[in-house]
Amino acid sequence: MLISKRSKYVFSPIRENEALAEKLVRSGKKIIKMNIGDPAVYFPTPEYIINAYIEALKSRKTSYSTSQGVFELREAISSRYKHMYGIDASPDDIIVTQGVSEALLFINSMLLNEGDRALLFKPYYSIYMPMVGLFGGKPLFANYDEENGWNVDIEELKKVIKRSKTKKPKYMLVTNPNNPTGKVLDRKVLSEIVDIANEHDILLISDEIYDELVYNGASFTSIGQLAKGMPYILLNGASKDFDATGFRLGYILIPEQDKKSEMLKKKLIEYAQTRLSVNTPAQYAFAEGLNNAKMHDASLKEMVKEIESRANFIAKLVNESKFMHTEKPDGAFYIFPRINMKMLKLKDDREFVNKLLEEELVQVTRGSGFGSPNHIRIVVLPPKDILELSVNKINAFCERYKKEA
Ligand code: PLP
Repeated sequence: MLISKRSKYVFSPIRENEALAEKLVRSGKKIIKMNIGDPAVYFPTPEYIINAYIEALKSRKTSYSTSQGVFELREAISSRYKHMYGIDASPDDIIVTQGVSEALLFINSMLLNEGDRALLFKPYYSIYMPMVGLFGGKPLFANYDEENGWNVDIEELKKVIKRSKTKKPKYMLVTNPNNPTGKVLDRKVLSEIVDIANEHDILLISDEIYDELVYNGASFTSIGQLAKGMPYILLNGASKDFDATGFRLGYILIPEQDKKSEMLKKKLIEYAQTRLSVNTPAQYAFAEGLNNAKMHDASLKEMVKEIESRANFIAKLVNESKFMHTEKPDGAFYIFPRINMKMLKLKDDREFVNKLLEEELVQVTRGSGFGSPNHIRIVVLPPKDILELSVNKINAFCERYKKEA
């Protein structure tokens, strides 16, 4: 067979309807795209970062960079962590990648052997799954608990780990703030997660790509503020906080100096060397994004204020519908409403999103793609008139498919 068995793991529920959407667009239809979490579509990437990119090009910073990432950028990341969270991570503890997406590829490939377990929480960011499967891993699931505002159910987590005794997970991956639920985990829950990881000697990975996109009074704690002394990994990048998705820049931070952390850093750097370098001018632009705190704070503040307002606006509209209910998010830019499928003549959430796209030209992502069926994920970034129109269309769609009483 030409294609490998593992290729079956490669898929993205977020983009699975792109071909259909494109066909509709080519036939002259206008789609409301609420499936991709791309802030740069709605909020222009800040001017000072764009200028730094242009400057890097003009000064011919166009060669390969070191595989680990340009030193200026790693220095800027190191200062960010010291300044924001009091975390000591030297530039040597940082590996720059082509987005957190590539970081996930590196990490899974360097950690997993055939049959190894990776502990994920449902609903998970959908791209975690192909990354685990491609490298022979098997996911082990705990839950963010919808009944409890999408918090981690600590008692259940303990049970999941206890049950996995002979096949203890290699790592546990937390997403905070969360995609798709918008939940920001509080310090107490995070401390308990750290204690559990410590007790069972499980590597803790925290995907904190939305760490500055927090609102509605929530406050964010980095795993690095709690996990002192145990090996852990932080993931972050330019895509969300810096509104620069198309730069394709992320990074892996492994602050501790213990034997395991050092071994992992070495292997990840070796992996980085096999793909030579990431985009060089973009790295200089990102370094300026990080270093120019005044400009960053100003543009971030504006963006977060607007995201908060849009998120609350659509959450309220959704909760006025008899067909769905959502928790109000306090971070990132998604809502994850539960759909009352029992009221509808539709088989499942996949049929729901496919028909919604075809008939109402609204593109959202099925909850089953995040491990939580009977939900849909809606990106809350569009302006309010579009958000309102989309909720009206979803309601009209549900009315049309309502079961007879
Ligand atoms: N992690 C989470 C939780 C995300 O939501 C995303 C993108 O939406 C990514 C990682 C990937 O980000 P990137 O590859 O752009 O850095």
